[in-house]
Amino acid sequence: MGPGCGETCCYKCHKNISQDQRQEIFAQFYAIEETPRKWDFVARLVEAKDVQRRTTDRQELSRRNYTYRYNLIIGNNLKVPACKKFFLDTLAQSEQIIKTSLHKKRGRVAQFLHTKERNIKEL
Ligand SMILES: [Zn+2]
Repeated sequence: MGPGCGETCCYKCHKNISQDQRQEIFAQFYAIEETPRKWDFVARLVEAKDVQRRTTDRQELSRRNYTYRYNLIIGNNLKVPACKKFFLDTLAQSEQIIKTSLHKKRGRVAQFLHTKERNIKEL
């Protein structure tokens, strides 16, 4: 597990989440055996916000930018916001897992919408 952020972090991660709690999150994450479930774990903790205005133009859509908010769950399901460094260091992961997790999550949503649309048309 990495050290996380410093004293100057505006999220005050180390103040909000103790070293013991980090250890617990780390252990939970590592107890997950299947990689897709690790992605689910991460996807649940990262909120992606679309920073560009809604558009119907396909090219614009593919150039979408997201801002991310990171959270960690401590104690009795308490969601605590953290900075990216703290989040990744606690899980001992690189940035790649965030990209993969969100990509997989979006893929499933797209698949779901596609199926739904097709079902409607068939009715
Ligand atoms: Zn921080």
